[in-house]
Amino acid sequence: MSGRIVVVGGGAAGIGAAGAAKATDPDLEVLVFTEYEDAAYSPCGIPYVHGREIDSFERLFLQGKEHYEEMGIDIRYETLVTSIDLRARHVTVEAAADGAFDTGRREQVVERHLGRGEPVPFDRMVVATGFDYQDPGIPGGNLEGLYFVKNIRRAMEWDRVLDEAKVAVVVEASPLGLEMITALAHRGLETHVVDPRPWALAEAADPDIMEPVQDSWGEMGVKMHWNTEVEAFVGDGRVRAVRTSEGELPADLVVVCTHKRPNNLLAQQAGIKVGSTGGIVVDEGMATSEDGVWAGGDCVEVPHTLTRLPLQGLTGSHAYAQGKVAGTNAAGGSREYQPVYVPWGMVAGTWMIGGVSFGATTAEALGIPYVLGVAEGISRARYYPDMKKIRVKLLCEPDTLRLIGAQMVGGEGIKERADFLGMCVRTGVTMEDLATMESVYSPPIGALNEPISLAAQQGMAELRR
Ligand SMILES: Cc1cc2nc3c(=O)[nH]c(=O)nc-3n(C[C@H](O)[C@H](O)[C@H](O)COP(=O)(O)OP(=O)(O)OC[C@H]3O[C@@H](n4cnc5c(N)ncnc54)[C@H](O)[C@@H]3O)c2cc1C
Repeated sequence: MSGRIVVVGGGAAGIGAAGAAKATDPDLEVLVFTEYEDAAYSPCGIPYVHGREIDSFERLFLQGKEHYEEMGIDIRYETLVTSIDLRARHVTVEAAADGAFDTGRREQVVERHLGRGEPVPFDRMVVATGFDYQDPGIPGGNLEGLYFVKNIRRAMEWDRVLDEAKVAVVVEASPLGLEMITALAHRGLETHVVDPRPWALAEAADPDIMEPVQDSWGEMGVKMHWNTEVEAFVGDGRVRAVRTSEGELPADLVVVCTHKRPNNLLAQQAGIKVGSTGGIVVDEGMATSEDGVWAGGDCVEVPHTLTRLPLQGLTGSHAYAQGKVAGTNAAGGSREYQPVYVPWGMVAGTWMIGGVSFGATTAEALGIPYVLGVAEGISRARYYPDMKKIRVKLLCEPDTLRLIGAQMVGGEGIKERADFLGMCVRTGVTMEDLATMESVYSPPIGALNEPISLAAQQGMAELRR
């Protein structure tokens, strides 16, 4: 196949798509547009540079710009796509320098620039426009001093602000919120978190999983304001306080960590179908409703394999994998995106948390019946230095006892267990299987009793009772 593929977006999905398209058909012209100054960096590392666990932003750059030139991928940096015209088969683009388009609120920028600039024709397209943080929609939203963590260049500028700042307010304990709360507290700022829900990450994690995390934040000096609405950002030009339902909190800066929502104004304007989450509807090959248009990453929705509910705004690893499928198929290849079971994990406070699919709180909210196995185990032999506790909760289908969800909190080894349990859900492993699983015992890396197995044994014992 010859011709030109245009990729809108230079994040994990867009770069995954461009690389896969070129690998599938080296003769294709692959043109990527991004409004940012860079493409190949890891936004995921930004909180850890702010927290001083990583010593420099330079470490987050994965490739130099010449790498993509060598691959034959043409990336147009600092270039905003201002419209997609599927009938005329072109996009319009406008170039700007010095991060002029990057205000943290992309849809507002696109709206102002809609249809402006030069037309660039394409034969096929991949939409990978990613996410925006949900607009808090309260007075003071245009003040200076509101930090939307995303672009590495802005993060470098904000890092200098953090050098001078004394008090920071994090709005919402979302996954990014958890990382930023921990980072700011590490950095020595007086850190507040304000969230309308009753505990951190309440839309995904169970309260008993989050309790040790919140305790550790308390020990780090974080001030937590749960069940508290943010009502306004207060200031004159620059934010100086956050007005909440519980009173006013002074703030040198506010980190807005609201829900990730799909950045889909362009797609909607072009008539590409979006679903109930606002994410672009795609099939298993990441094809959209429109001929010759594929999509991937945080701008799409995909069904959860067990509940069939559409999910949007998953992770960077989902975005990259979806982009690769979209790019391969756009270039004439044939690839399917695997169903999602959503293993997840992260560090929050002094703990690691993680899981797969959903926990008890979500299952109850969705009316999904389950039987539970819960246990506390340890990560290494009891006598080995730095042994850490691990709490495991397993949710299984009542009839078949197949694993359908899990959540964990512990000091180490959470990621590996989440990945393993993700595979267990995918392949239909039962509570009984897990109760009798073989496991590694070696004092520095694993205890005699594997915590997952202990949780399954507790669940089986409960069932027998
Ligand atoms: C601070 C931070 C921490 C994170 N931590 C993790 C983590 O620990 N683990 C994990 O798996 N993931 C993490 N992520 C990844 C993240 O949550 C997303 O899932 C991932 O960035 C989605 O990739 P994407 O390519 O779909 O979208 P995005 O990363 O949002 O990229 C979108 C791209 O589209 C471009 N774009 C959008 N509109 C236009 C337009 N009109 N014109 C031109 N260009 C446009 C943007 O410039 C950008 O290049 C983190 C992200 C951030 C910001």
